Amino acid sequence: MKLIAWLDEISNRDVDIAGGKGASLGEMWNAGFPVPPAFVVTADAYRYFIRESKLDKKIRKILKDIDVNNPEDLNRKSEEIRKLILNAKMPKDLEISIIESYNRLCEESGGEEVFVAVRSSATAEDLPDASFAGQQETYLNVKGAENVVKAVQKCFASLFTPRAIFYREQKGFDHLDVALAVVVQKMVDSEKSGVLFTVNPINQNYEEMVIEGAWGLGEGVVSGVVTPDTYILDKKTLTPKSISVARKEVMFIRDEEGETKKVEVPEDLKEKRVLSDDELRRLGQMGLSIEKHYGRPMDVEWAIEKGKIYMLQARPITTLEGEKKEDGGEILLKGIGASPGLASGKVKIIHDIREIEKIEEGDVLVTKMTTPDMVPAMKKASAIVTDDGGLTCHAAIISRELGTPCVVGTQKATKVLKDNMVVTVDGEKGIVYRGEIKRGEKKEKEIGTGTTTPVIITATEIMVNVSMPEVAERAAATGADGVGLLRAEHMILETGVHPIKILREKGEDALVEVFADGIRKVADAFYPRPVTYRTLDAPTDEFRGLEGGEDEPVEQNPMLGWRGIRRSLDEKEILKCELLAIKKLRSEGYKNIRLMIPLVTNPSEVRKVKELAREIGLELGKDVDFGVMVETPAAALIIEDIIKEGIDFVSLGTNDLTQYTIAIDRNNELVAKYYRENHPAVLKLIKYVIETCKKHGVKTSICGQAGSRPSMVEKLVRWGIDSISANIDAIDTIRKTVARTEQRIILETIRDRKLNID
Ligand code: PEP
Ligand code: MG
Repeated sequence: MKLIAWLDEISNRDVDIAGGKGASLGEMWNAGFPVPPAFVVTADAYRYFIRESKLDKKIRKILKDIDVNNPEDLNRKSEEIRKLILNAKMPKDLEISIIESYNRLCEESGGEEVFVAVRSSATAEDLPDASFAGQQETYLNVKGAENVVKAVQKCFASLFTPRAIFYREQKGFDHLDVALAVVVQKMVDSEKSGVLFTVNPINQNYEEMVIEGAWGLGEGVVSGVVTPDTYILDKKTLTPKSISVARKEVMFIRDEEGETKKVEVPEDLKEKRVLSDDELRRLGQMGLSIEKHYGRPMDVEWAIEKGKIYMLQARPITTLEGEKKEDGGEILLKGIGASPGLASGKVKIIHDIREIEKIEEGDVLVTKMTTPDMVPAMKKASAIVTDDGGLTCHAAIISRELGTPCVVGTQKATKVLKDNMVVTVDGEKGIVYRGEIKRGEKKEKEIGTGTTTPVIITATEIMVNVSMPEVAERAAATGADGVGLLRAEHMILETGVHPIKILREKGEDALVEVFADGIRKVADAFYPRPVTYRTLDAPTDEFRGLEGGEDEPVEQNPMLGWRGIRRSLDEKEILKCELLAIKKLRSEGYKNIRLMIPLVTNPSEVRKVKELAREIGLELGKDVDFGVMVETPAAALIIEDIIKEGIDFVSLGTNDLTQYTIAIDRNNELVAKYYRENHPAVLKLIKYVIETCKKHGVKTSICGQAGSRPSMVEKLVRWGIDSISANIDAIDTIRKTVARTEQRIILETIRDRKLNID
């Protein structure tokens, strides 16, 4: 149990531990904003306090038959509980932790005892009623370890004010389920302070910033008692366009006892300019970063203490005409932008697949994580938001294919959003806004008609990934040179029945037809362009939901489990049907199908698949181009041995290669922030595979998500990859990136030659 958390240990995701205020301070701190240092007495510490001092039973007893509509009863019981909390003995270890943390704060601030603000930070701030969140108290100018401990205890007690009790009773919340964290933050004793607007709110000029500054504490400027200097900055250069120095008669300072006092400004400072050009530039830079972080114009309270800038408060500027509509609105949630586009609609929360009927055309589907049986509903949704997942999770892959904006990994969408709330989902930035927002042209759901973009010819082939055969036409319309990855999983999931059940009950031909149907749709749409069919990569957790899937083993970590080609070789009867489907399609005249196998780790797997194919009369490598996916460090490191088994091509599956190389479960949002396809170890493996394949005349491609990222594609083209397979929505960008990189390589070569000649 963690009793204390410092800001560098906290992010927006830690509301449960640090409360809303603590979590957002942590997020800002870790984003590099200069917020004053602080630590948080965690919600667990509060629970520990209540438990150890045996207050839970007593509180429950007092509140047992409270009549909250009777003010006398409510006030009396509230007071009784708060007294109990205030008089309780704080557990020794908690008390020591708070004292030690306060001392550390003092040490880090120069050694002397510092004034701190002790603020309640509710863990239930996502509850809709602000009066609940804002209920608890804040104590300013607290000094000395003992006083800090007392103030923390006072904050704890403020969870039981009459209004808070009333609110929880009304809403039916359990009083002991709610916990409170407490932020202890150093108060800034500033020599200068003021406000910064990241756009000019007077003339609505978005190219300007306005900074107001005065001497002393910020109270003066904020309350309007002091007339500050006004500086207008050019937002591009961060230099002053105009400076108006005011005569500053009074200022606010903090006295020995911590009281805020209004005093006269020393004569020599009265007409002196408060901020230097350098300070303006530093403040301007902070303004730009804050605006970028929040994605909208902001107003910021700042202070300078001993030359260091602090950010005390940041709020959106609400007075700009049309700003809310044009450029964002209130941000309800942030996550990972998984499929680009902007769409609004009514929230429908799906806790259980049985609720799927709730989704109507245009709704925003919100769920913990989508499952294959949600796909029909996903098709109706205007946008998708999930609690869990990273860029390669089910929701992300399917949404991109459907062209539906999607935000994943929000951690709490199913808690924060409520049914029928209207929201706007920005799948590019990974933000969910309150209400309907229109920003320029809406991204069309149907993209890639292929008629508007002039076709660029690149030496590197540009291929497209397809997971659902029904999007084949859309994928083909991008003008891609073929399909670099046609996933098989959806063909089965779409039937709703486990393949073993289809085999047992309907026979081999039926299962062959399921595969043949799916592949045919895509091979048709792309003919004569090649389509790379990848054999089934069935994770047990996804297939368990199918009819007849009850026997799927339950695995601790399905990502490291029974999936890919090793599973297919254990269940040869299914793999055989896939091979028969390809054979059948060839006999129907589809000569554009290639075959590849997933999650290879051993050369013997290649050999065994070839043997099985031969048994049904299909010569892999001769009748059909045959390749392997390189998705494991094992496959990358022994690529030469795999090549010796006879393959025509490899395709880099960076989604899996990344997770296995740097030990990041790609479906675990807790570690999503560490997921880096451009980790040096992953890059090293990729480069080695491309170089080795080149040596042996084996073609190389990429079909993982990294192939949709321009920065990665630049590297791959330079290393000599033969083709790139990207998502439908990324084809245009990737084609341009490839073309530009190729041209650059040619220019560099010419230049080098010239230099040599000279
Ligand atoms: C990959 O691992 O990069 C890949 C393309 O396969 P999947 O995402 O289906 O695991
Ligand atoms: Mg994979």
